[in-house]
Amino acid sequence: MELVFLGTGTSQGVPIIAQPEGLCDLDNRRNWRTRSSIHVRMGETRIQVDASQEFRLQCIENEIPAVDYFILTHGHADHILGMDDLRRYCDMRGGDALPVYGTDEGLGRVKSIFPYAVRDKAVVKGYPAFALKKMPPVLNLPDGSVFSTLLPHGAIEVLGLVFQEGDARIAYFTDCSTVPDEALELARGADVVILDGLRQRPHPSHMTIDQAVDFAGKIGGTRSFLTHMTCTVDYETVGAQLPEGVELAYDGLRLEV
Ligand SMILES: [Zn+2]
Ligand SMILES: [Zn+2]
Repeated sequence: MELVFLGTGTSQGVPIIAQPEGLCDLDNRRNWRTRSSIHVRMGETRIQVDASQEFRLQCIENEIPAVDYFILTHGHADHILGMDDLRRYCDMRGGDALPVYGTDEGLGRVKSIFPYAVRDKAVVKGYPAFALKKMPPVLNLPDGSVFSTLLPHGAIEVLGLVFQEGDARIAYFTDCSTVPDEALELARGADVVILDGLRQRPHPSHMTIDQAVDFAGKIGGTRSFLTHMTCTVDYETVGAQLPEGVELAYDGLRLEV
């Protein structure tokens, strides 16, 4: 399996506009974060998780050649607003709808933001077309499976995902205030565990760096990565404080699992 971090940031805080003391060092490219999403290649199957406002540029930068399945973790702006730019990948399927999996909340947002795209075939050549499907507990794909669970995120629930191809497993738990027991068991011992680590200061609907590190220890993955970080999380400074086996992810990070 191959994993690409397309983005590892959040909508909160824009360091280039205001750079008070203590924010991240902008001379380090790893502190230049676009909003969070991942791309997973499982055999020949390509799965895109979320599409942020920077999705189009992320695809160009990371040379993403195709998308076969799309999974929306939830309907917040920083995860959904790039979905119109899936149009090129729909076009490559001859205009046939791209399967889009999500929760009722997420799919409801897709219908209200992109009503023109919710159809079996693109309305005209070059337009997007989405076949909306409720994410099942296990989604079986040609080369593996995607397991799903629900994570609390303020007033809504977010899809937590575990990708499995053979013995290789990747867990992606973004945008959550905690990791419930069921999710913890699902991810336990995965090769790569990715967790929401927004910032040091508490937030009602995201985990802090310390909370994410704590869950990384409980899950016991081989390598754990924090994502969805604000501009207060300096790659070098905060990265140096993390325990063995826990790292900060960064845009463009590519892993073979
Ligand atoms: Zn969110
Ligand atoms: Zn988010």
